[in-house]
Amino acid sequence: METMKYIFVTGGVISGLGKGITASSIGRLLKSRGLEVTAIKIDPYLNIDAGTMNPFEHGEVYVLDDGGEVDLDLGNYERFLDISLGSDHNITTGKVYRTVIEKERSGEYLGKTVQIIPHITNEIKRRIMTVAEASGADVCIVELGGTVGDIESMPFLEAVRQMNTEMGRGQNCIFVHTTLVPMLGTVGEQKTKPTQHSVKELRSIGIQPDVIVARACEPLEYSIKRKISLFCDVPLEAVVSAPDAKSIYEVPIVLEEQGLTDYILKRLSIDAQKKDLSAWREYLDRILYPSNTVRVAIVGKYTHLADSYLSHLEAFHHAGAELGTKIECRFFDSEKVEKDGISQELACCNAILIPGGFGSRGIEGKIMTARLARERGIPYLGVCLGFQIATIEIARDVLGMKGAHTTELDPNTPYPVVDLLPEQREVKDMGGSMRLGSQRVLVKQGSKAAALYGTTEIGERHRHRYEVNPDFIEKLESAGWEFTGRSEDGVKMEIGELEGHPYFVACQFHPEFKSRPKKPSPLHLGLIKAALEYKQAREDRHVL
Ligand code: GLN
Repeated sequence: METMKYIFVTGGVISGLGKGITASSIGRLLKSRGLEVTAIKIDPYLNIDAGTMNPFEHGEVYVLDDGGEVDLDLGNYERFLDISLGSDHNITTGKVYRTVIEKERSGEYLGKTVQIIPHITNEIKRRIMTVAEASGADVCIVELGGTVGDIESMPFLEAVRQMNTEMGRGQNCIFVHTTLVPMLGTVGEQKTKPTQHSVKELRSIGIQPDVIVARACEPLEYSIKRKISLFCDVPLEAVVSAPDAKSIYEVPIVLEEQGLTDYILKRLSIDAQKKDLSAWREYLDRILYPSNTVRVAIVGKYTHLADSYLSHLEAFHHAGAELGTKIECRFFDSEKVEKDGISQELACCNAILIPGGFGSRGIEGKIMTARLARERGIPYLGVCLGFQIATIEIARDVLGMKGAHTTELDPNTPYPVVDLLPEQREVKDMGGSMRLGSQRVLVKQGSKAAALYGTTEIGERHRHRYEVNPDFIEKLESAGWEFTGRSEDGVKMEIGELEGHPYFVACQFHPEFKSRPKKPSPLHLGLIKAALEYKQAREDRHVL
């Protein structure tokens, strides 16, 4: 296709409407018609990237192949579209202003007054178009973070408004506006006023939406669709309802059934024939109708916000679909475990995950949990910090190294089994300064990891500063903690597997970031397989 087509997805009324899921679902639908689709996420905050942001507030920091630390929505795009994106697919106010200010300092604006319009808006347009064109895709979905009306998003909305005008108004760009249609009382009336107001807001900045996707508890009533169509000046067929779904993987089907894909293709004059959602439907069925259930304990620090571990939850979905198993994730606050000890509920789970993390809060609770898994034969997966925790636990309890620790949390430990990477010693900046992104890992033939990956050379994404201290490798391995994955130079330990345990596996990298529907993270899949066996064995012995 000659001209790139753009779909701008905005949000109104409130944040957290699932705009990202709507946008990724549209992408998936276009892909099902044989189109190449890419995606850009705009975050109107001043941070350069999400690397320094607290998962408590924003959910997990998602890591890309190139080491970009980005908003978790990029994860949705990668999973829904089965593509790998680069960090330039996440545009933030910070990145845009930094470029403009650097240009100004180097005199590139030739003495002109540098302003939001046109300098900031031009930089936004340049970034969007460069990334979209470099991707080689036919369609680029651009999701604008935040809610229409926020001061922060103004320059971005103005920039995409200009893009639409410059590209032949409505021919190559369309605007999809996601809103909320609340219902008063449980059987009350669906209310369109908030949608009307947010469309008015959008129009006041010169943008007329082409499609309205209305989130609601229930499907929109016909009369409500008509009302939105009339008041917001959008054709009836372009008012789409997005009721609460049982699974996010259901959303593309719900949108397709209302004719959204056909409408978008018509509006953008794209000729696409292929229509194949059968694989997606079959996948959804596997998620919705499982034949078994396992309970996985996630023990961490950010347990009150499920989004902090979003990619793990998704990886478990992928593994569960593969095995026809529903995975119930239970969150346990490691600080509570540390204070109150291991609860019955935790001890009764069929598998344990200790995900990545930073800081000392609840660390002893995590070590206690790893010990529980090791001693009782409960399947365990440790990721990043969870790998370091397993190493510390084994050093302390199997090798008798009292006070063994990571120097991140105890600089004076007598046994620094986890220590700084040599190249990290001098680093002072917090942003983008860890060992980041995809790195090759060599996996030992005959190991569990090699069997699960089906190969001995893998590439996985990283985000850490500390690693297993080479001085302790021999000792740790003599205790049965075998390092079956190592970096290419052989210096960094990447995977640990405990001898004699059904599944006590941990890794320095983050396998959750590359997990996709139908291509689940091998180590999460291994954990769930082991959990099923563990559960079965206990049931056979009549233990719950
Ligand atoms: N805090 C640890 C490190 O920097 C682990 C990081 C993580 O779990 N992502 O090495």
